[in-house]
Amino acid sequence: MKRDILSYSLEELETALVDFGEKKFRAKQVYEWLHNKRVKKFDEMSNISLSLRTKLDDNFYINSINVVKRLESSIDNTVKYLYELSDGNHIESVLMEYKHGNSICISTQVGCKMGCKFCASTIAGFKRNLLPSEMLLQIYEAERESGRHVDSLVLMGIGEPLDNFDNVVRFLQILSFEIGKNLSLRHVSLSTCGLVDRIYDLAEYKFGLTLSVSLHSVTDKKRSAVMPINNRYCISELLKACRDYIEKTGRRISFEYSVIHNVNDSAEDAEGLIRLLKGMNCHVNLIPINEIKERDFKSDRKALSRFSEMLEKGGLNVTTRRTLGADINAACGQLRREYEI
Ligand code: SAH
Repeated sequence: MKRDILSYSLEELETALVDFGEKKFRAKQVYEWLHNKRVKKFDEMSNISLSLRTKLDDNFYINSINVVKRLESSIDNTVKYLYELSDGNHIESVLMEYKHGNSICISTQVGCKMGCKFCASTIAGFKRNLLPSEMLLQIYEAERESGRHVDSLVLMGIGEPLDNFDNVVRFLQILSFEIGKNLSLRHVSLSTCGLVDRIYDLAEYKFGLTLSVSLHSVTDKKRSAVMPINNRYCISELLKACRDYIEKTGRRISFEYSVIHNVNDSAEDAEGLIRLLKGMNCHVNLIPINEIKERDFKSDRKALSRFSEMLEKGGLNVTTRRTLGADINAACGQLRREYEI
């Protein structure tokens, strides 16, 4: 069976080429063709001998993904891509323009197992993990199609990144490698619903990325009602893992809190959040709940501002996420859902 060459590290490619009886330095040339010039066929690698190109073609394939739908916001230039993978599955990415550059939000799985009640990505269940190549290609393809340079990345699209741990780690290593995209992991945020064991594992890599933790509620009862993962790892276990992460990596954590009117935006919720997080090296990012047609959750801007003020008064670092691409339904999983129904 042919192997997925875009998911190989340079070292692995060197080993493979040496096994073919080739010189080790050839791997670097091939790697440059793949990750800098981003060719789609081995035949395009013009400084590689025909015999090596043939060997590569016999043993590997260059994965690809195709844009099947592209929506551009007329408000803020946000571009949403619906991609088709080589097996016919669909995923989404969102390219956003900020003052400091372009940021892309990518998917890590086809669907999601986590079952968060407010999230469109999970409604149709889980199909499969994405390969490292399929995460890279979301960036490469968006850069090629838009002509924009991606400066930062968030793993906040469809899927739970820590539920696809090995592929996500490998992807981050290839992404930050000096040949290729060469993106500093300081410009990467990884968002998790709270897979505690994997948070401990991730801390060991000391990646320098920002870990975002989807908290959304301050009591176990409320959190379990909207996030089934809380039945496996309760809030106190989650916060213990977060403290460990901060201590091991020296990086602060960003807690995401999607504000749902009359569900988690009361004064009591604010007090609970302050009690939980006070003194921790962290930041709270409030997300106005994005109303999805399958669920009856409402957003209320005034209540959100009041909630934010209460948190600030309580000494927390708080920001509210800007809504981008409001006219193109840019929230997680919504486009794929519409397309697959
Ligand atoms: N699985 C990861 C990343 C996915 S989504 C995680 O759970 O963190 C990124 C963020 O958007 C998460 O905080 C998620 O809880 C939140 N989110 C999902 N659907 C939402 C919606 N309809 N409105 C607001 N936030 C939502």
